[in-house]
Amino acid sequence: MEEQTIRVQRSETKKEKPQSDQLIFGRSFTDHMFVMDYSDPLGWHNASIVPYQPLSIDPSSMIFHYGQSVFEGLKAFRTESGDIQLFRAEKNLERLNRSNDRLCIPQIDEEFTLKAIKQLISIEKDWVPSAEGTSLYIRPFIISTEAYIGVAPSMNYKLIVILSPVGAYYKEGINPVKIAVEDHYVRTVKGGTGEAKTGGNYASSLKAQEIVAKQGFAQVLWLDGVEKKYIEEVGSMNVFFKINGEVVTPQLNGSILSGVTRSSVIELLKHWGVPVSEKRISIQDLYQAYLDGELEEAFGSGTAAVISPIGQLTWEGKDMIVNNGETGELSKRIYDTITGIQYGHLDDPFQWIQGIEAKSPVKH
Ligand SMILES: *Cc1c(COP(=O)(O)O)cnc(C)c1O
Repeated sequence: MEEQTIRVQRSETKKEKPQSDQLIFGRSFTDHMFVMDYSDPLGWHNASIVPYQPLSIDPSSMIFHYGQSVFEGLKAFRTESGDIQLFRAEKNLERLNRSNDRLCIPQIDEEFTLKAIKQLISIEKDWVPSAEGTSLYIRPFIISTEAYIGVAPSMNYKLIVILSPVGAYYKEGINPVKIAVEDHYVRTVKGGTGEAKTGGNYASSLKAQEIVAKQGFAQVLWLDGVEKKYIEEVGSMNVFFKINGEVVTPQLNGSILSGVTRSSVIELLKHWGVPVSEKRISIQDLYQAYLDGELEEAFGSGTAAVISPIGQLTWEGKDMIVNNGETGELSKRIYDTITGIQYGHLDDPFQWIQGIEAKSPVKH
């Protein structure tokens, strides 16, 4: 494929940037966005950075009816010296193409799209907050835009990248959460779309989340969709347990989303020489480990929080209190190390970090 050029149309007005202590996740967006169209036989074309603006899309566009879409979520971090860096962004673009494949959406040029994201961030560099724990959240997504309500893969698509400055996930220190083991609803099922980052998975997860929220739980622990016996994920995060000195996480099985944070946690533990394995874990075995006093730590992993410790798991009315409801030592060490690498406080022995040409730290 011939490399496209990216047209840039600068915004004439600039929005006011929120104060870094008042950033709410996903509520404010920067001045520009990246857009690219797909049609046959042109392929992906019209790559452009334009002012952030509403879309004008035919109401019959396929996205509104059958949900053929995919998305990604990653972050750019401001280091102390004012540089801006990305964390394993190429993994997100690889995954976007795997999701594309599952949803019958045409493949994108990963390198070109990463270049476009970097150029967008570079134009929006003043939007990358510098306060401790803040970052610029990057949301690439693809929607099916063909004006047709027949059920078939769309002939037209839009890839869009929007940026949102986000606050520190843990303002008052890491706080372990209470989780309900979900024994009625399922997130997805092997052979379904659970491995893909697609909106439908989220739409179908809302009901269970809404119900447990009323009972005081932060999220649900999802079990497999066939036997409802094996642990899959926690909310929209991957899940880890430390049992008798060994860290275990459910093995990728066709319904679990392969998290970039998940793979980073596994690599980090291997690097430290901490025993870690990916395997099938039944909720019954987890409960037994708890009864035996061997369930030492539990946490979710994902881009937004990095690590989210689990202080309590409730399954069929039985409570498992993990580490006295406090953040485990290893959980904390993983969190400190990954965020330390992301913000450039720590060395990056894994080459997870990629810089963006954009200096000038801005205090806001
Ligand atoms: C995005 C996502 C994750 C976490 O992936 P990261 O790449 O670590 O952010 C886990 N589970 C689900 C269902 C997800 O959508």
